[in-house]
Amino acid sequence: MVIKADNKRKLNKLIEELGSIRGRGTELVSIYCPYDYDLTEIVNQLREEEAEAGNIKSKRTRKNVQSALSKMVDHLKEFERTPDNGVAVFCGNVSQREGKTNIKLWDIEPFKKIEVKLYRCGKEFKLGPLREMLEEGAEYGMIVIDTRNADLGVLKGKKVVPKQHISSIVPGKSKPGGQSAARFERVREGLLEDYLKDVAEAVKQVFGSEDLKGFIVGGPGPLKEKFIGNDYLSESTKDDIITVKSTSYTGQQGFEELLRKSREELRETELKEEKDLIQEIFNRLRENGKISYGVDTVIRSLKMGAAERVIVSEDLDIKKIYASCDCGYSKEEITEDLDIETCPDCGEDLSIEEESIIDVFKEMAENTGATVELVSTDTSEGEQLYKMGGVAAFLRFRIE
Ligand SMILES: [Zn+2]
Repeated sequence: MVIKADNKRKLNKLIEELGSIRGRGTELVSIYCPYDYDLTEIVNQLREEEAEAGNIKSKRTRKNVQSALSKMVDHLKEFERTPDNGVAVFCGNVSQREGKTNIKLWDIEPFKKIEVKLYRCGKEFKLGPLREMLEEGAEYGMIVIDTRNADLGVLKGKKVVPKQHISSIVPGKSKPGGQSAARFERVREGLLEDYLKDVAEAVKQVFGSEDLKGFIVGGPGPLKEKFIGNDYLSESTKDDIITVKSTSYTGQQGFEELLRKSREELRETELKEEKDLIQEIFNRLRENGKISYGVDTVIRSLKMGAAERVIVSEDLDIKKIYASCDCGYSKEEITEDLDIETCPDCGEDLSIEEESIIDVFKEMAENTGATVELVSTDTSEGEQLYKMGGVAAFLRFRIE
């Protein structure tokens, strides 16, 4: 069965667990199968690797790698198809005792699509692609500018993606000999004006089509203030500026410096949306009651087509559990953990299927044109929502 890491917290836990394991040799095997890739191809590749592994010099490493690969093949053969988001499989000897082997396997379907295909044997599991999923978040526009250069970039999670570089031909302030100071200053002002207009145009072109949460602006000297303080940028762009910081550089170094100095403001912006959203739930609850909360009530409102936006706490750890037995017994429950493991009718082990409550909400929402949004418990409002049952829904009409 695939371990569903359907939220950041679960994935983070798994990454911590896997990250703490060290192989004695290069014997820990990691595989990433992209969401749109045929798993049988992966199985074929693993079989080839298994044959290749015969060449590994160290007897112990060879044995461990071969055992891991054959376990992975056996496991993946059972899959009917590639899971929706792809699958990452990790396998290797986790025994810390010399001479002992304990080959363990993890298969993880993360909450985001796996886009990368990867096979790796190492002393550690390859966790980079999963870690990146945790880092991805909202996107922000970045502008660093001084009289010589301007750089535009987009902040994606923790990564800055440079978008455009503009160089100016504005001369320095000291005037070359033979020119009148006034004339030189006029020419310089004209060039500066053209340059700032070019940068503003680039801002429009580069960021116009992006779905950004806001901008952060930096650069050495006072030009950045001149740029944003006048009419170069549209009013709505100016409203979206989160913070302005002095940096020593433009370019990549400027981006990094700006990011470092803006951490706090960005974090607050991230949380502000969550705070506002949950605050709106409380307001609606007071004003007209077009809100439902708690798992059961929200499910009911979804069934009725009344729910419009479902807001779920990331920490809500409730599942829809379906237990069944060959004798015909079955039970379905929405709960944290099922209280029975064996069939109450015949005593055999039950076969158990689980679905996270977030997936349950999403499926129901899809059928009725509602949306599902996740919020953290990093704010006091988020904690309050968690205490109210971990989920609330904005309603199209009131339900009794
Ligand atoms: Zn039974």
